[in-house]
Amino acid sequence: MHVIKVRALCLLVAFAALIAPMFASANTFSAAQLKTLNQPVPGGVAIVDLSGVNPSTQSPPTARYLDKPVLITRSDSGRWMAVVGIPLSASLGSQSIEVVQGGKKSMHAFTVRDKKYREQRITLKTNKHVDLSPEDLARYEREKKLQDDAYQVFSPQQPSNLLLDRPVKGPLSSPFGLKRFFNDQPRAPHSGLDFAVPTGTPVQAPAAGRVILVGDYFFNGKTVFVDHGQGMISMFCHLSTIDVKPGERLVRGQVLGKVGATGRVTGAHLHWNVSLNDARVDPAIFISMFTP
Ligand code: ZN
Repeated sequence: MHVIKVRALCLLVAFAALIAPMFASANTFSAAQLKTLNQPVPGGVAIVDLSGVNPSTQSPPTARYLDKPVLITRSDSGRWMAVVGIPLSASLGSQSIEVVQGGKKSMHAFTVRDKKYREQRITLKTNKHVDLSPEDLARYEREKKLQDDAYQVFSPQQPSNLLLDRPVKGPLSSPFGLKRFFNDQPRAPHSGLDFAVPTGTPVQAPAAGRVILVGDYFFNGKTVFVDHGQGMISMFCHLSTIDVKPGERLVRGQVLGKVGATGRVTGAHLHWNVSLNDARVDPAIFISMFTP
């Protein structure tokens, strides 16, 4: 009798281990939470209700937008929902994602509305980080490739949470999307959100994840990339110290490094990027600080 019980328990444990990943990929989030993330502007997020797609968890749908895989989740209503990152370069108006379930394709539309982003003029003491020497340019291009590749990572597990925790406690400074001029020269818009916090402030993972890249880069300084799952990637840069290694799994809230002033900066702060389907989107959306 005892032996049978132990065997049954072993089988149960083995079965639980087997189906655990399935449960992990079938996290549900409340429809109300998902609604707060729906900010369909360039640099924003569209929550697309996949009505008409079979709600069965047996065959989860997959989706693509601009030919990149998209985060799919289930709302507590049992419906599949796509959480789509909209790049700053996206056209306004009707856009669509392609959804595939059980070999059946369908298109699901959403509307991108306009948002005006402010301009910012930044003065740097030297032109080192504005007019790059051939050596610095070559270094930047090598480092860009590594970081571009990190944003392409798409792992099957669902993020532990879609409403993210603030990585540091402190006031927001430069918002996402600012059109920036460095020493009067136009450069790429601000791809993340800045927090005005001093050097040494611990940076905490805003959701569970896996460290996929760390480095010390020309523009970004000491940098950590975290894969939260399904193409949701966080990047933290200008750190003074990095406390994690590539491949390391992080629990929600785990300290991954300390704030610093490395790379192209005018002073200590945390710069945080959030990426969905390889589109950098406004992190403020995920911490309920978005201004339309
Ligand atoms: Zn920044």
